[in-house]
Amino acid sequence: MAPSRRELLAAFLGAPALATVGCLSDYIPPLPPGELVGPSDVLGHRLRDGWRPVPAADAWEKCRVAIVGGGVAGLAAARQLRKSGITDFVLMELEPAPGGTSRGGEAATGPHPWGAHYIPAPLAENALLIELLGELGVVEGKEPDGTPIIAEEVLCRDPEERIYFRGRWYEGLYLHAGQSPEDEEQLARFNAEMGRWAAWRDAKGRKAFAIPIAGGSDDAAVTELDRITMTDWMAKHNFTSDRLKWLVNYACRDDYGMTADETSAWAGVFYFASRLKGAGVNAQPLLTWPDGNARLVRHLHGLVKDRVRLGWAVADINPTEAGVEVIAVSHDGSQVCGIRADRVIFAAPQFLAKHLIRPFRTNPPPHLAAFQYGAWMVANLHLKDRPADRGFPLSWDNVLYESPSLGYVVNTHQRGVDHGPCTFTYYYPLSGADPRESRAKLLGTDRDGWAEVALTDLGRAHMEIRDLVERLDVMRWGHAMIRPTPGFLWGPDRRRAAAPFRGIHFAGADLSGIPIFEEALHHGTRAATETLG
Ligand SMILES: Cc1cc2nc3c(=O)[nH]c(=O)nc-3n(C[C@H](O)[C@H](O)[C@H](O)COP(=O)(O)OP(=O)(O)OC[C@H]3O[C@@H](n4cnc5c(N)ncnc54)[C@H](O)[C@@H]3O)c2cc1C
Repeated sequence: MAPSRRELLAAFLGAPALATVGCLSDYIPPLPPGELVGPSDVLGHRLRDGWRPVPAADAWEKCRVAIVGGGVAGLAAARQLRKSGITDFVLMELEPAPGGTSRGGEAATGPHPWGAHYIPAPLAENALLIELLGELGVVEGKEPDGTPIIAEEVLCRDPEERIYFRGRWYEGLYLHAGQSPEDEEQLARFNAEMGRWAAWRDAKGRKAFAIPIAGGSDDAAVTELDRITMTDWMAKHNFTSDRLKWLVNYACRDDYGMTADETSAWAGVFYFASRLKGAGVNAQPLLTWPDGNARLVRHLHGLVKDRVRLGWAVADINPTEAGVEVIAVSHDGSQVCGIRADRVIFAAPQFLAKHLIRPFRTNPPPHLAAFQYGAWMVANLHLKDRPADRGFPLSWDNVLYESPSLGYVVNTHQRGVDHGPCTFTYYYPLSGADPRESRAKLLGTDRDGWAEVALTDLGRAHMEIRDLVERLDVMRWGHAMIRPTPGFLWGPDRRRAAAPFRGIHFAGADLSGIPIFEEALHHGTRAATETLG
């Protein structure tokens, strides 16, 4: 039986929050129109459940490299092959659009994100991202230490962030208003500790927390952080300030979709320290676009478009004596094709490996069980006008202190449009110790249920939101991103999963355990380079 409105809202927003917005009555306000959009679970689930389409004898072709998945990792692999002069490759992407969890959408208000929406400005060591941003024409020069100078137009415009607390908005993500001297001291001490990690170098001169993480240190002094949770790390360092703990918990939910109780301390410290050039400096500025990282996807896709087949799901990957056979089926299930490739780049998430790679179906390698993925709901709310501000004005990122959601980003912000219609992209990570349970909650709630959650949550800060939203679409990301739980980042499983298997080379941000654009770019590029060797 479907839950009542009250049960739904209590489950996703918590009972005390409802009382503040008068949701305990049985009156159900009408919802704006909208729909559930991708990802295409139906075909994926049929394949998972054992459907094995077979191509006709004349539906086979040959190529040097077949890439499975057109998210950032798959597109980065394709870019690298092209840069290396290889033209004989094909990329198969299940969805009708490229980008995976970094894709975007288009509305009357302009482009908007459906997932990833920013990257921090790279430091000098991130040569790959600097090169990619150079292709986009947004690197204007370099500082003497190699740090790129990024064009103003892609640096997140002011005001960047605000936070809603008990009736009004405040500037920034940390709640300064009402803090005690003790809170202030702890924040300064926390920032100093992050600065210390940013300046730390191991005996080989490597940073503790580099982006991509492959360039960082594997010294035990750093990796031991992966043994405890971020909450335990905070306690160990006597960080007891509620607002500081809120900030750290928010950071874990924002980047990993997990609470600080669930997140490895290595990942928690990485979030802050990897964005600092050294001790005593501000964090790197953020780069964003109206459709978030989908702008980067459009660039990558544009470089290799002629080799990309959208709407084709890979159903079977079979290593043979002669190479690797790949069988794919069209989006509507009506066509089946086969590819005999010398090598395959598997740029889909690891949880699919045991369904798609034939030998793994009967004999899954044990490391696959270590890869766990969190569930997220993303809603795009298309507004005819902006709500009134109480306190600090509308910013790019707008966060509610007392909500389990992450709040919303505004798609017109980076275009410099501060009035009229716009789209709010609202993020709700389903954190919780059991990702299966979270996924069941995500998928057990339909478009109307999620629309009600988003509108009620935002109604705390914007009483008029229901009158302003003309359309509300919902994306349910069942396996949204890898979960960096303690032990996963520096245990053996990631390394084992990244090792090639009988002509199959693995890419995907999940191999890093840190779900960010830069890691997908790194692994896609690395896997493509491996196939050339
Ligand atoms: C809600 C959300 C917000 C995020 N925010 C940020 C952010 O702000 N900044 C940031 O850096 N990162 C963010 N991330 C993480 C970021 O999106 C990822 O780290 C990165 O894009 C992962 O790329 P990927 O190629 O490794 O994997 P994916 O994006 O998962 O791509 C895998 C691709 O494989 C395809 N595929 C799957 N099965 C098959 C099959 N059988 N045949 C063919 N294709 C298949 C999928 O359709 C998909 O396109 C966010 C993620 C989510 C979900």
